[in-house]
Amino acid sequence: MRKKIVAGNWKMNNTLEEGIVLAGQINDLVEKTELNGVDVVIGTPFIHLTEVNKLVGDKIGVAAQNCADEVSGAYTGEVSAAMIKSTGSKYVILGHSERREYYGETSEKLVKKVALSLQNGLTPIFCFGEVLEERQSEKHFDVVKSQIAEGLFHLSPEDFGKIVLAYEPVWAIGTGVTASSAQAQEMHAFIRKTLVAKYGQEVADNTSILYGGSCKPSNAKELFENADVDGGLIGGASLNAEDFMGIITAF
Ligand code: 13P
Repeated sequence: MRKKIVAGNWKMNNTLEEGIVLAGQINDLVEKTELNGVDVVIGTPFIHLTEVNKLVGDKIGVAAQNCADEVSGAYTGEVSAAMIKSTGSKYVILGHSERREYYGETSEKLVKKVALSLQNGLTPIFCFGEVLEERQSEKHFDVVKSQIAEGLFHLSPEDFGKIVLAYEPVWAIGTGVTASSAQAQEMHAFIRKTLVAKYGQEVADNTSILYGGSCKPSNAKELFENADVDGGLIGGASLNAEDFMGIITAF
């Protein structure tokens, strides 16, 4: 089902204590705010998941930022989809550009991670996006299409319907440079058209496509007003409860 979603990605920030304080502040604000049908998600480091799940109410879903590409066993340092599920989390962010760039996250690995997430009842928030040179050389549509096709197009329409997409142009992440509202809409419309070609109009219409990259309270409204932008995946601005709420209430 297509939903409006604002998801925070804390990345590698906050000790456990700090994370508990921040999640508590976000929860307090969310509890007293009319959300207008927006689903709120917070993506914390693994070590926070259990505690944050205990403290937030029903209006907030909790996400991990990655999961292992194996079921269980001798994979030192890895955290499985089943373990994430056991903390009460509902979502898992997969394929973030930082993981693709720094940790060798290939489409092949993502196929396994998506499968394990779905098997464990987690909703993948599947990220993709072009780097600056790819946009400058006008390859951005091809790059985005390949990342989505390689990671997801083996899925049945039913399983594809369980995925949330997140377009995050790498040149906009953490840079303060946001895609313009027109650039975001242009890409999101292209993505939806690509989904129509693969899965048909109904599946495409029911897919939530989030935008990520320097989204903040001052630009969120303009981005979210676009017909094909269904919400945001928020990095820096999700580390401050009031800024994050400013984005949630921009809808
Ligand atoms: P910023 O909002 O800090 O640019 O990060 C976006 C992002 O990478 C969310 O996953």
